Amino acid sequence: MWDRLGQGTVDVLVIGGGITGAGIARDAALRGLSVAVCEMRDLAYGTSSRSTKLVHGGLRYLEQGDVGLVFESVTERGVLTKMAPHLVRPLGFVLPVFEDAKRGLAIVDTGLWIYDALSLFRSPKVHRRVRKTKLAKEEPSLKVDGLEGAAIYYDCATDDARLTVETAMDAVAHGALVSTWTRVVGVVRDEGGAVVGARVRCERTGEERDVRARCVVNATGPWTDQTRAVTGSSDAKILRPTKGVHFVVDAAKLPLTHGVLLQHPSDARVMFAIPWGDRTYVGTTDTDADSDPSEVRATSEDIAYLLAACEAYFPRFPLTPDDIIATWAGLRPLLAPPDENDHLSESQVSREHHLMVDRDGLVTIAGGKLTTFRLMAMETVDEVVRRIDGPRIPKRRREKLSRGLLPGAANLTKPLVRKQLESRVSAIVDDSLEPDVVRHLVEVYGALAPRLAALVARNPTLGARLAADRPEILAQVEWAAEMEMACTVEDVLVRRTQIFFRARDQGLGVAETVAAYLGEKFGLDAVERARQVEAYRDEVARSRAFRSERP
Ligand code: FAD
Repeated sequence: MWDRLGQGTVDVLVIGGGITGAGIARDAALRGLSVAVCEMRDLAYGTSSRSTKLVHGGLRYLEQGDVGLVFESVTERGVLTKMAPHLVRPLGFVLPVFEDAKRGLAIVDTGLWIYDALSLFRSPKVHRRVRKTKLAKEEPSLKVDGLEGAAIYYDCATDDARLTVETAMDAVAHGALVSTWTRVVGVVRDEGGAVVGARVRCERTGEERDVRARCVVNATGPWTDQTRAVTGSSDAKILRPTKGVHFVVDAAKLPLTHGVLLQHPSDARVMFAIPWGDRTYVGTTDTDADSDPSEVRATSEDIAYLLAACEAYFPRFPLTPDDIIATWAGLRPLLAPPDENDHLSESQVSREHHLMVDRDGLVTIAGGKLTTFRLMAMETVDEVVRRIDGPRIPKRRREKLSRGLLPGAANLTKPLVRKQLESRVSAIVDDSLEPDVVRHLVEVYGALAPRLAALVARNPTLGARLAADRPEILAQVEWAAEMEMACTVEDVLVRRTQIFFRARDQGLGVAETVAAYLGEKFGLDAVERARQVEAYRDEVARSRAFRSERP
């Protein structure tokens, strides 16, 4: 992709390969525009692999009276379950209500009726009230002392990084050029000072060149302000990023059948405990953060805060820092509130997105959520089309284009189809893969799973597991490198698979094997392979650094 970058002038150059940039590239390519994306590291390297991994309306925004955002989000939740049913799956959430709660069960119930109504009753299932005695059976880990009752409502869980990767690969399939490890280091201007392209640097060779574009879009999430400074468009800060931390434990340490909505005992902030197959994860914190988005990590203080919430809700399952398998931390690219709103606490800062155009023509899309990426993309491309006087497509047609299925989604809506796919995968490999591996391939790749099975059929060594306690196999490394632009050990273990988050050793045991595989494939020398393994170990160490700190 680097070799093709900069040949001729593209209609739109997108800076950033997170969900926002990938979504814009896909939408623009679907409308027939020529598109290039420059991502300084890997797809989903930033916030888009560090979220709570929910596609949701956001109940707490309803509490804050942000009905517009909730409506937008629940609508998009419905759209995404159709576009990518293998990646966006319904999950029930228990909302426990204790006798001393500020809002009793009746009020919560009314709120959930509004939540269901905003989705026009098309949520995965309509919510229901659950009595205390019944809840003890439905979610036995949860404390029932002092409970008035609970409600169970439905949202969706996702794999944020894979949603981003599939969106980007769909953009590529429709003609977009997506160049990773390509950093934008400046802009190209015409005599009048208008932005007409970007200066980009290959992060591997240091080579620089200009990419000419009729419109340049800054979609760099928490790096938005840095990018505007780099391009010289403006020094004014428009973001107020906040940090969010999660941790992962073995499901046996905190067994759950539903997601559970927790209110922190010290400040009543809302967070989640979420079942994740053989793991459970808990998060998130929400604290103002000024750090470099690449360096952000969980501190012992963050972990102590999350553990305190677990202790309050799951007293029979005491967790300690030693139980934690992995942590992750990300920065929310939230918009700074207007001055008069400076009194707002972090969780009250708006999650809405904002599209702005600098005087020099640089378009910036900031804020927003994973859930609303498709809408943000449509709005941004509408602006691009206006600026370059591009092809005007009627709204209904634009909607239809952008609601098209992602690559792994064909025919996946019915559970029966999943079962059929599993049978097909098993047949392709002559039943040589164990059932959990087959299930995993279908869950992760959907309709593309048979193509991974075909890799194993051709080369049975690709059927080897990457970690003894996980269903991921070597064929996924091959697929990631061949079809999904993964270049490094970290790309594969953190963002194409979830080994980093879910394997007990966070993938340390398989890092060298993956480096050897990628080395062979890409012709990397021993020094580069060792460097990649070292970089991966550093990433794991960052995720565990809280252990050596005193809370
Ligand atoms: P990013 O994903 O950060 O992408 C920006 C990209 O720009 C990065 O990949 C970066 O490498 C690249 N870049 C930066 N500078 C340059 C440069 N100079 N040149 C080239 N590339 C560059 N939303 C939900 O809907 N559901 C949730 O459950 C949810 N939970 C969240 C929990 C947490 C803790 C956080 C932090 C956020 C959460 N969000 C959630 C919000 C959501 O994750 C973000 O809104 C979304 O991922 C932002 O995507 P983005 O593409 O704008 O930014």
